[in-house]
Amino acid sequence: MLDGIEVSGAILDSVRDATDKYVASGGRRPGLAVVLVGTDPASAIYVRAKRKDCMKAGITARDIDLPADTSQQDLLDLIDQLNHDDDIQGILVQLPLPPHIEETAITNSIKSDKDVDGFHAFNVGRLALRQPGLRPCTARGIVTLLNYYGIDSKGKHCVIVGASNIVGRPMGLELLHAGATVTTCHRFTTDLEAFVRQAEILVVAVGQPGIVNAEWVADGAIVIDVGINRLDSGKLVGDMDFELAARKAAWITPVPGGVGPITRATLMQNTAEAAGIHIVDPKKSQD
Ligand code: NAD
Repeated sequence: MLDGIEVSGAILDSVRDATDKYVASGGRRPGLAVVLVGTDPASAIYVRAKRKDCMKAGITARDIDLPADTSQQDLLDLIDQLNHDDDIQGILVQLPLPPHIEETAITNSIKSDKDVDGFHAFNVGRLALRQPGLRPCTARGIVTLLNYYGIDSKGKHCVIVGASNIVGRPMGLELLHAGATVTTCHRFTTDLEAFVRQAEILVVAVGQPGIVNAEWVADGAIVIDVGINRLDSGKLVGDMDFELAARKAAWITPVPGGVGPITRATLMQNTAEAAGIHIVDPKKSQD
């Protein structure tokens, strides 16, 4: 199993170590503004977890909770203030936003060097062009996860199911940069099964349990399940049937305890890096 709890813990330790050293040498402790608009229960859970991670990573969280009827202009004004605030090195606006607020306008209003989610067009463009910048956390975190376990994606056929701006697309770019051959499947893909069967590394990010039949997984494939779905029973599951897929896969991420915590830890890594602190990616000890 690819253990997201272990890897996220290792990332958070690296960030904590680096930020503490930075502060001890006279630097300012990095500050992350965590902005939540409205009361969406899932968003509230994610935001709470991110604020906890700040404590673990030695980052000062500034909690800003706004009512659901906050206007787009008020949110833009707040971001403008945070863009100019020297105590804040990272700005995170939890998505999704209420329907009257245009998400692209918000993500693109964050100063690109404080855009720790990596969703600003400037940062996504830099990622596409293989230039350094703040990189979307889930895709970057998955690369850290693969590297942690010594899994080399170079030359492998990686199939990504899901092509969203926040997961699927940046994932394709990351794996392409790592030397993989990438196929991205999406809602208009015909014969998903044929592509999944070819995957040496399979990343599934749709948000529909069972969208990829676990029987399609090739023997020895590496399976990364990004999906997070809450069943009527309250149970949290991914997009794949974990038990079935695990019988065929060489490596697989669980849900919960897989990509979720790594995404959050990578947000801390991005925040420290936005503050100018260099973080070394952790690797699994060979002992
Ligand atoms: P999204 O709705 O923005 O995108 C879903 C993608 O799935 C789209 O590109 C769509 O074309 C594709 N899709 C839909 N039906 C399909 C089908 N039948 N066959 C193939 N592709 C299909 O979702 P998102 O924001 O990318 O999130 C996807 C999932 O990942 C959700 O469950 C979300 O909660 C989860 N997520 C997890 C993390 C994490 O840290 N673990 C981070 C972000 C998102």
